[in-house]
Amino acid sequence: MKIQSKIALIFTALSAGIILALSIFVYFFASESISASFFHRLEVRSDIVGHAALQQNKSLSSIYYDIKERHLGSLPYEKHRILPDPQDEATRKRLSLPSSFFEKPQGDIPARFFNHDTSYVVLRIARNNQKILVVSSALDSYGMQEMANLKNLLTIGFLIAMIFVFTLGKLFSSEIFKPIRRIIRNVKGINAHNLHQRLVVDPTDDDVEALSQTFNDMLDRLEVTFEMQNNFVSNASHEFRTPLTVVSGEAELGMAMPGLPEGAKESFFNIYKEVEKLEHLTTSMLSLAQTGFDGKKENWEEVRIDELILSVKEAADRIIPDNKVTIDFNHLPEDECKLTVFGNLALLKAAFSNIVLNSCKYSDNQPVRIKITADDKYVIVEITDQGIGIPDREIGQIFVPFFRASNTSRYKGYGIGLPLTHNIIRMHQGKVEVHSRVEEGTRFITYLPFKYF
Ligand code: ADP
Repeated sequence: MKIQSKIALIFTALSAGIILALSIFVYFFASESISASFFHRLEVRSDIVGHAALQQNKSLSSIYYDIKERHLGSLPYEKHRILPDPQDEATRKRLSLPSSFFEKPQGDIPARFFNHDTSYVVLRIARNNQKILVVSSALDSYGMQEMANLKNLLTIGFLIAMIFVFTLGKLFSSEIFKPIRRIIRNVKGINAHNLHQRLVVDPTDDDVEALSQTFNDMLDRLEVTFEMQNNFVSNASHEFRTPLTVVSGEAELGMAMPGLPEGAKESFFNIYKEVEKLEHLTTSMLSLAQTGFDGKKENWEEVRIDELILSVKEAADRIIPDNKVTIDFNHLPEDECKLTVFGNLALLKAAFSNIVLNSCKYSDNQPVRIKITADDKYVIVEITDQGIGIPDREIGQIFVPFFRASNTSRYKGYGIGLPLTHNIIRMHQGKVEVHSRVEEGTRFITYLPFKYF
């Protein structure tokens, strides 16, 4: 999940917690307040009814009721029961109210009880040596309606607030991450070809400025290292090749010397052969190092892959005259543009030659088939042999420099060709796939983006 979305979510969750706590507080506070006010109204009525009941004078008693009706009105489902104090157990049971409720009222302070949406009060009244308990009950339907409305209001308010907070959180985090996204865009655009580029540092005196500055410092160090490596590779290439050429020239001269004993001639020949191998190895290693970091697009041109494969086949014919390499042109794309890539001809030829020569080598010159096709982005070259294959657990390592599979002891090699091929194809924004089965064969599939993609 993007950090941006994470921030928006955390922001929303925190706000949800706060708004929820506030809503619960408001709900309970309102509920307490409405219920207390209703109990109070019920108690007033209960008191009037109790005093009316204790009134000996019947006309005064009816005045009590009259005042109650005219000035207070009745509550929904309002009921009053006058009980002798103390009352017997049977009466208590009949009312199905807890016994403790009848013990509670002290002096003028009534007891309150709430059960099944109904509010109950019990009031102890004493007058002229007479003692009664007034048990009153009523249903606060208006209060219940108020609470239901409040609940709906709080729920809808909560949901709207959440949508609002999430949208604000998104906008807010997107605004905060704007400079970070710009840095990511800029860093993505920097590669081996334009290592001199630097990020724009806004003097904002914040973390983003520090981040850009840190990237720039790192790029400074990288550029120096690349420069040093570049110089080392070209110097080493020169320094290694010159003495090797001299040694192989001297060995050739030595072999041609007249009257040389057979043993010495053979020694010169061995020196010549080993130096040749060393030269090849040096060239491959230097190419590997160069393609690994140096993406310079010098000598890049339009390359027709079908023509390139033909020249690879010609080279293979010269090196291994009895090879059985065939090219299948039946699946060539009709559109020629899909066969043209932009790249370095010499490097691409080296890359495909490595694969084709390996296929001949590791199949002891069994048939090797090259097929060229294209999809909507890549020109695809499949090279299939019927050779020794690569053990399953080792396939992942064949592009690692100097790695050789465990079944290759019969064959000469250094483990440099495929890493070089891999680097060259990647340098051209392509990719290589390998499918192989031991004792059945191997298929290398290379994908190179065509020029007009
Ligand atoms: P090498 O000089 O050993 O051929 P490469 O870098 O060209 O070095 O290849 C690396 C390893 O990949 C080889 O040692 C071999 O184990 C394996 N490999 C490459 N191509 C094939 C193939 N066509 N068939 C079987 N194994 C292969």
